[in-house]
Amino acid sequence: AGAGGPSAIRPVKLDKECELRIEVGPDTPLRLRLLTGTAEIFGTEIAPEIWLTFPPRLKFAVYTWYGATIELDGTTETDYTADETPMISYVNVHAVLEGRRNRAKASPNDSDSSQGPRVIVVGPTDSGKSTLSRMLLSWAAKQGWKPTFVDMDIGQGTITIPGCIAATPIEMPIDPVDGIPLEMPLVYFYGHTTPSVNADLYKVLVKELAQTLERQFTGNAESRAAGMVINTMGWIEGVGYELLLHAIDAFNANVVLVLGQEKLCSMLKDVLKSKPNVDVVKLQKSGGVVSRNAKVRQKARSYRIREYFYGLANDLSPHSNITSFSDLSVYRIGGGPQAPRSALPIGAEPAADPTRLVLVNINRDLLHLVLAVSFAKEPDQIISSNVAGFIYITDIDIQRKKITYLAPSAGELPSRFLIMGTLTWLET
Ligand code: ATP
Repeated sequence: AGAGGPSAIRPVKLDKECELRIEVGPDTPLRLRLLTGTAEIFGTEIAPEIWLTFPPRLKFAVYTWYGATIELDGTTETDYTADETPMISYVNVHAVLEGRRNRAKASPNDSDSSQGPRVIVVGPTDSGKSTLSRMLLSWAAKQGWKPTFVDMDIGQGTITIPGCIAATPIEMPIDPVDGIPLEMPLVYFYGHTTPSVNADLYKVLVKELAQTLERQFTGNAESRAAGMVINTMGWIEGVGYELLLHAIDAFNANVVLVLGQEKLCSMLKDVLKSKPNVDVVKLQKSGGVVSRNAKVRQKARSYRIREYFYGLANDLSPHSNITSFSDLSVYRIGGGPQAPRSALPIGAEPAADPTRLVLVNINRDLLHLVLAVSFAKEPDQIISSNVAGFIYITDIDIQRKKITYLAPSAGELPSRFLIMGTLTWLET
């Protein structure tokens, strides 16, 4: 069906417990509506009759529990119906989490039992972690809970731009087109798209985020009972595995959902044996998950940054600003690439402290970097502070000592303290 054909409206009938898997074509959007029955997209029910417009390249599925008729308008890269999905097992997990939320809500004054489920979703790349996280959040929000979504995927995160770890409460089922609303996410800037660049910094930031959320929960029984859903990155070997264990610990996760990997599951079961209150559950990967190679991932990162400044549908108008070098202080965290201890002579310490704050000389090396604007009031607060937003450096005039940057809006930045990493973008 679809590929390259003329644009015409066509109906698709879905039997109960089936899904229509769609990849929107590369150039034009796809319109879709629900004609009869009920259906949802990654946990969010779609309204009957209303046309929804999906942007090019989006990959998604329309699932129905009881049967539905859908109409498609436009061309797709692929679309096909699948009758084998892991959705029943996913919704069963949701039911168990629901039970825990209700129990937590029933005992608001007990610091232990008032804590709802803290779910961490782990698995290799392209196992459907983000999608499962999204479903669990949307199903919970539909029942009136406000679970906290924590996204630790610095490569392909869904809350903000790459290179960040972030959290936000989910108050409504996540919109199938617009995704997560960007009202006031809590964002920490790591600045690189792989944790190996500075794993120590990554851990420090995870810890900061976890502690901030813990403080927020203390004063908020409602979000405490609703709990968290934590999405992780797909790197699960070596340092990646170590970082997973660190995250489970930092967030006090009590449910570990392992997608599509037997080995990881048994490893985690083994090391978490000592923590009887942590459940490790293996779940099947959906056959609908689309694999993405390095190039596609790089592109997706670039689109995310573009979306931050320009909006998904080019509906935002970022502002180009010019300011003097002296108005900004740019910091880098960690002293360049770290030499592994094993590469040093016996007894020598690695010279670069991974969390050392370094004031950077403004020069043309900053060109095309994406920098974070820190909420810190003093430089020594930078590592422990979350960030207000991002700017993109478009010109450096060494002679006149002027910097030109793109920001979401005109006017002064919320702070003079900027953080740089290795995150770059080429505006196209
Ligand atoms: P990463 O390796 O980046 O951590 P992930 O494990 O989080 O990936 P997802 O992002 O959930 O994987 O899924 C990969 C892609 O497959 C996404 O574009 C998603 O929308 C798509 N996808 C997931 N499930 C389905 C499905 N059932 N039908 C169609 N597309 C799907």
